[in-house]
Amino acid sequence: MKTLMNYIDGTFVPAQSGDTIEDINPATGMVIAHIPRSTKADVELAAASAKSAQADWNALTLDQRADWLDAIADALQAKHEAIAQAESLDTGKPISLARRVDATRSVDNFRFFADFARKQQPLTFEMSDAMNFVERNGLGVVGLITPWNLPLYLMSWKVAPALLMGNSIVAKPSEMTPLTANILAETLDELNLPRGVFNLVHGLGPEVGQGILEHPLINGISFTGGTATGRIVAATAAPMFKKLSLELGGKNATIILEDADLDQAVQGAVKAAFTNSGQVCLCGSRIMVHASIADEFIKRFVGEVAAMRIGEPSDEATQIGTVISMDHLEKVEFYINLAIEEGGTILTGGTRSMMGGVGPTPEGAYLAPTVIGGLSHLSRCATEEIFGPVVTVHTFDRLAEVTEMANATEYGLAGSIWTQDVEVGKALAKTIETGIVWINTWLHRDLRTPFGGVKHSGVGREGGQWSLGFFSETTNICVMNPRELGD
Ligand code: NAD
Repeated sequence: MKTLMNYIDGTFVPAQSGDTIEDINPATGMVIAHIPRSTKADVELAAASAKSAQADWNALTLDQRADWLDAIADALQAKHEAIAQAESLDTGKPISLARRVDATRSVDNFRFFADFARKQQPLTFEMSDAMNFVERNGLGVVGLITPWNLPLYLMSWKVAPALLMGNSIVAKPSEMTPLTANILAETLDELNLPRGVFNLVHGLGPEVGQGILEHPLINGISFTGGTATGRIVAATAAPMFKKLSLELGGKNATIILEDADLDQAVQGAVKAAFTNSGQVCLCGSRIMVHASIADEFIKRFVGEVAAMRIGEPSDEATQIGTVISMDHLEKVEFYINLAIEEGGTILTGGTRSMMGGVGPTPEGAYLAPTVIGGLSHLSRCATEEIFGPVVTVHTFDRLAEVTEMANATEYGLAGSIWTQDVEVGKALAKTIETGIVWINTWLHRDLRTPFGGVKHSGVGREGGQWSLGFFSETTNICVMNPRELGD
């Protein structure tokens, strides 16, 4: 049993109140750690420390801060297995996934931004009689608030560019998955990152998160989480004129055209729907398949899903672990029951029972991957974010029809199109209201590209230049040429 601390002003400290929250392993229902139940008083200390550290950090050169990012990447790489184990324990995700995706990408985020920084060119604009120099400085103190589905992956995706651009940080991980944020804090402490540059405050959203949003010393908020919370973040921070980045929910379409390579499309649709038990904001939770190939596609897709191996997260062979908590399992089950009420048919899954005699422990939040047919694309299950191992399948005849279906949700984060005609795929992609479209792949990321959503999926973009832009303020310095001395 671990007892985690906050990391404030270079020191590990409990919440000032002394209160704690239990961190529960969703595979066993057992308490694995106690974390501080911090309050605004703890945020106050963290923000003050960050404020006092920021000017010196910002005074380093970009290259010096890039060197720091490389050092962090090296140190996290040495803890790759420990990060994967902690992430699997905290979230119930398969250890193989935690290794391949969570731990690896957390290292890559620091490495990527270090390399990216070194490729930056000075930004200048020449006039006939003057020269403009665009200088970039950190925003100041930034608040970083992250969710439970990809804990260190998403936190490092913010911490790396924030540090790079000269900001100091007050970070809050999800109270449900605090372990790896602590590994990051320990790592930065071991590296002797200057005191106050990175502060970690554990606790509940409406207490610590809200404290970060409201704090007057915090100039910018980068938030990843649900759309309902995003609305609170915007309502609190916007009137204070804080810079805001919101990465919110999704209800993404997987569109299979009639000429798709069916093997590739089936494999892709399974991965898009069920990676991390469907708990990735980018997951393709609505499949739209051309009517002419629907029977064959559904038969093969359902067969693949039914054969997925559900099991203990620590088992190397497990493909589907648990969802994040029993509460979340009940929310997902609510939607499965609603689908039946709405006239849907469960094609596979829909239950807590496990196949092949594997588990579950009754305390474990295991849910079989579930495919639902027969629903209108306008039904609640097909338009609201379920964020679990549930996918609905719909058919279409014409491209215009599938555009209308894909856009019939308040979300607009991502989607994938499967076709052998790339030009048709690209033309269709432009008609979908969304931030990201993959053609014949899913979650294939170049970290230089813009990442983010439209509609209720968010405001702003992260990645490459977009992250550097968000985490900095620009000053344009216009220098008049020396006057030529006439005779
Ligand atoms: P959530 O909104 O419940 O929580 C996210 C974070 O916000 C947590 O740290 C939480 O403690 C904090 N929070 C809660 N209330 C707050 C408040 N009033 N003020 C400030 N902070 C508060 O989301 P979740 O359940 O942890 O994560 C799942 C959601 O995240 C899904 O909707 C998913 O689509 C979304 N998500 C989006 C992306 C993306 O990049 N667009 C990535 C991952 C997850």
